[in-house]
Amino acid sequence: MRVLITGAAGFLGSHLCDRFLRDGHWVVGLDNFVTGTPDNIGHLAGNERFQFVRHDISDSTYVAGKLDGVLHLASPASPIDYLELPIETLKVGSLGTHNALGIAKAKGARFFLASTSEVYGDPLEHPQRESYWGNVNSIGPRSVYDEAKRFSEAITMAYHRTHGVDTRIVRIFNTYGPRMRPRDGRVVSNFIVQALNGEDLTIYGDGSQTRSFCYVEDEVEGIYRLFMNGDHMPTNIGNPVEFTVRQLAEMVVELTGTRSSIISEPLPQDDPKVRKPDITRARTMLGWEPKIPLREGLVRTIEYFRGLVGTERMAPRSPLAARSPVGSVA
Ligand code: NAD
Ligand code: UDP
Repeated sequence: MRVLITGAAGFLGSHLCDRFLRDGHWVVGLDNFVTGTPDNIGHLAGNERFQFVRHDISDSTYVAGKLDGVLHLASPASPIDYLELPIETLKVGSLGTHNALGIAKAKGARFFLASTSEVYGDPLEHPQRESYWGNVNSIGPRSVYDEAKRFSEAITMAYHRTHGVDTRIVRIFNTYGPRMRPRDGRVVSNFIVQALNGEDLTIYGDGSQTRSFCYVEDEVEGIYRLFMNGDHMPTNIGNPVEFTVRQLAEMVVELTGTRSSIISEPLPQDDPKVRKPDITRARTMLGWEPKIPLREGLVRTIEYFRGLVGTERMAPRSPLAARSPVGSVA
């Protein structure tokens, strides 16, 4: 197969490129580096089955040659990132998804949407099954991401029903692992980077809110199987073992051996109180379930971040707008 992966220089996108290449497929990676980095795909330079295009997918584009799949992962994904880039996030979820669907339709390719557990908002059903419609504040700060993803699911289903495009929708639950941007602001990278830098670990609120953390290798395997063998209905892919944010902080302190303290900071508005996927659909349809427990995944992730200690990438966060010219085409 030859597939286009948008968001290829990001955390998940880069691992997904590796997964396709591992099975002998050809990959065209597309990214504008707004939250990703060339470092994540540097190891693919010189691979004849990998090609890279620098482009903002919110602007339309043409990809030469045949394509069997279009996997749309481009979007800021960390709450701090998308709150800093609200309009860009809405655009890549709406215009970007429309453009990516257009490419899939023109090429007769299968389309794959990276959606999110955020479509469930602050959920009133627990754990969350795919049949749950969600509890989203459509005008709150997080809505730029949640509603963009809900729109992207809607337009994906419309292309399926109206144009007969073969589509897939994955709802990804909190995933962590090597190649996360150290200062992207998500809880796992934050806690590890803080611990390794000897900074205080910042729990937002009282730390009783829960998340269910999936190691990247498990997540990418689920995504790959869904692309290959799934159907068009949304599918949760995540690890159903639930932890409080405080438990996560304590585990990171223990595993890094840091002398950092754990401190409290204000809870962001509309921060979901609980989150845990029901993965019955993925288990039965794909024969998939996660294998790597949080403790083991954290050990591997800590190892990765240890390798970055002392580098520019571990330095305090700088504004995203300064990192990358949004909308540039090279
Ligand atoms: P990431 O920020 O590491 O990667 C996103 C990539 O998309 C970056 O390389 C960024 O530069 C690129 N990008 C953003 N806007 C773009 C645009 N307009 N044009 C081209 N490239 C653009 O985030 P991630 O964790 O790898 O997330 C990948 C996808 O998975 C996102 O769609 C996200 O919403 C979804 N997702 C991730 C998680 C998770 O826990 N990691 C959870 C739910 C959903
Ligand atoms: N969080 C935290 N400290 C941090 C970063 C995040 O306590 O330094 C909390 C955040 O408020 C949320 C959970 O950790 O309750 C997960 O946050 P993240 O940004 O990783 O992703 P979300 O699941 O909210 O999209």
